[in-house]
Amino acid sequence: MAEEIKPKLIVFDLDYTLWPFWVDTHVDPPFTLKGNGKVYDFRGAEVKHYPEVPDVLKKLQNDGYKLGIASRTGAIEDGRKLVELFGWEEYFQFSEIYPGVKTKHFSRFNEKSKIPYEDMLFFDDENRNIVDVSKLGVTFCFMFRVGLCDNVGDTLEEESAHFDVKPGGKINVYTRDWDGFHCVFTYACQGGTKEQWMMTLKRSINKKYSKCLVFRPSGNSYLFFEQFSVQIKGPQIQSAKLLANNGKPLSPEQYKIEKSKNTVTHTNEKFNSELTFIEIDAIRHKKKKEL
Ligand SMILES: [Mg+2]
Repeated sequence: MAEEIKPKLIVFDLDYTLWPFWVDTHVDPPFTLKGNGKVYDFRGAEVKHYPEVPDVLKKLQNDGYKLGIASRTGAIEDGRKLVELFGWEEYFQFSEIYPGVKTKHFSRFNEKSKIPYEDMLFFDDENRNIVDVSKLGVTFCFMFRVGLCDNVGDTLEEESAHFDVKPGGKINVYTRDWDGFHCVFTYACQGGTKEQWMMTLKRSINKKYSKCLVFRPSGNSYLFFEQFSVQIKGPQIQSAKLLANNGKPLSPEQYKIEKSKNTVTHTNEKFNSELTFIEIDAIRHKKKKEL
């Protein structure tokens, strides 16, 4: 039997790992905890974490693991406040919340806890953090935005290519195909000149989780989109994140996820024609065994 190796410190990212939003852009502080036990933001919208998180943290603490937070959010106080209001402070012995490369966060964990990097396990949803931190020897687990983690230590492979997004109002289609994982971007837009965009496909080594990203690398687009749609063939769409200029999230009424067509599409009435970034998470379900 293989020897079971257990980590001594388990570290979690915050945004899109413990809760499904970016604390610096999606929610409006100050936050308050109401008598019903729920947390609300300034606008009165409920702020929710991923539902399983409290049970997971409690179980890990009861099982004797030390727990930490490594977040690179710029909204340092807001991140801390939410951890406090969700009642999670008792679980985390270590907390490093500030912008910058996460190797810094981990070197602080190492200094404070004296736990070697090899005995740390790290959960994060962004590949760049996982790549940085894994160089220290930390074992990592990539979180997809559906809040799942599978095959600890599995990294992501990716392939990407630039393509031109052309104005003129015509319907254009750009497709990439990677071993049965297709991403099809259809759009029509108006504007002055064409822009260079990029499509990146990512997947876990076990091919269960996939991502398709369609974006303008500079983060801003001067085109006026009349319509867009991204269709995935192969894995099933689970969630999507879309941004307009300056990293501003598109509000949920500006687009729709249609699971039956496996598409993410603009909504006619609400979409305000600004688009710079689309990220789609998809899962390949195991084929049912034929009887
Ligand atoms: Mg994150």
